Amino acid sequence: MAGTLFDKIIAREIPADIVFEDEHVLAFRDIHPQAPVHVLFIPKQPVATLNDLVPGDEAVVGRLAMAAAAFAKREGFAQDGYRVVMNCNRDGGQTVFHIHLHLLAGRAMQWPPG
Ligand code: 5GP
Repeated sequence: MAGTLFDKIIAREIPADIVFEDEHVLAFRDIHPQAPVHVLFIPKQPVATLNDLVPGDEAVVGRLAMAAAAFAKREGFAQDGYRVVMNCNRDGGQTVFHIHLHLLAGRAMQWPPG
């Protein structure tokens, strides 16, 4: 798989406002925030879309959710609430083909989403 810009962020080849990192996960602020808080949680292991996950990858996605929830608690908005979104392919609005979990917070979200 050709590298995406998220691989370049992992490799520090392009800058990002990184808010969390561990062995498996990197989280950084979205360059075009859609809410007062908009952070992308990505696995260091590149997987293009949710469709490309295979049995054994459960932790790849689980770690993103766990890291997002920990960030919400750390930043103090867990109780007020937040939204997490994973877009898949064209109709889902995916533009970067390295799976990522959007964490949006700091305002009341609308439903249904656009
Ligand atoms: P998608 O549309 O694939 O679900 O989300 C990709 C996200 O990556 C978008 O919200 C977009 O604003 C964000 N993004 C695109 N390029 C960059 C970049 O160079 N740096 C950062 N921090 N975010 C980016």
